[in-house]
Amino acid sequence: LAKGAGKGTWQRYRNDLHSAMVERLALRTALHEAVDAEQFVLQYQPIVDVRTQIVVGVESLVRWQHPDRGLLSPYHFIELAEENGAIVGIGEWVLRESLRQFAQWRAAGSTLRYISVNVSARQFRQPGFVDKVRAALSESGSRPEWLLLEITESLVLRDAEQVWADLETLRAVGVRIAIDDFGTGYSSLSYLRQMPVDVLKIDKSFIDDILASKQQRALVNAIVTLARNLDLTVVAEGIEHADQRAMLARMGCPYGQGYLFSRPVWPDDVPALTAAIVAGVAG
Ligand code: C2E
Ligand code: MG
Ligand code: MG
Ligand code: MG
Repeated sequence: LAKGAGKGTWQRYRNDLHSAMVERLALRTALHEAVDAEQFVLQYQPIVDVRTQIVVGVESLVRWQHPDRGLLSPYHFIELAEENGAIVGIGEWVLRESLRQFAQWRAAGSTLRYISVNVSARQFRQPGFVDKVRAALSESGSRPEWLLLEITESLVLRDAEQVWADLETLRAVGVRIAIDDFGTGYSSLSYLRQMPVDVLKIDKSFIDDILASKQQRALVNAIVTLARNLDLTVVAEGIEHADQRAMLARMGCPYGQGYLFSRPVWPDDVPALTAAIVAGVAG
């Protein structure tokens, strides 16, 4: 028996820490085999016209169907996969599967304009990434215009030369590029003018306080205005409330995404959802 409460607490803490580490290690090891074992699945979240709420595109979001632990969100494994390099294989699968699925929806008559696919920095920097994108497009019979690649602010800022060259190549092919979680990094606004990108996705943290905070509101308004003047498109992330949508519409923010419209859904639910959100427009 432990002598005092202090020691008991410490041992519990140590046991928790130990099992957390064991768990991380187990996940990390399993990640490499998970692609071949076909344990990854995709959900899709609609991106809508903020004014009309018409669905214009979908973002694919990966989940890990773990044999013992159930459905795991990216929060549990993306960072680990980035550390051990498994993200490269996962990302390639996500890209191919997203395009295969999207081309199938289009062939069935879907009016969706594009699919947005997250690309990790490590995956993007992998030699041959641009060729893999081309291959995934032609394999699936997709038009380059259907694809929007979401990258991070820091990728565009670091190792600028090779990354910028690859971004230019992709854009020349017709693929569009978005900066995900925009506003959380360090890109200066003057730099933005030169960046080889097409879309800014304003991070949820800015949208959260858009009604309560005058400062946040001013920031979002500035980003929307600047983007318009630079011929960039904007998507507001994490819209949860109707009054946030109304505020963004008033600011002239063209597109949005968030639980207000829909949570990420399984592929089978996408076609019906595309119609339903539009039908549910309140005005
Ligand atoms: P993200 O790309 O910024 O994706 C948006 C995340 O916010 C998603 O979480 C989405 O479910 C969630 N979200 C959307 N609307 C709302 C809302 O109104 N409220 C709240 N609270 N959350 C909302 P998810 O699916 O857990 O993904 C988390 C992150 O994992 C993504 O953030 C992305 O950075 C990463 N991720 C997801 N799929 C992939 C992938 O295929 N490849 C890579 N490299 N990263 C991925
Ligand atoms: Mg994203
Ligand atoms: Mg995002
Ligand atoms: Mg985000």
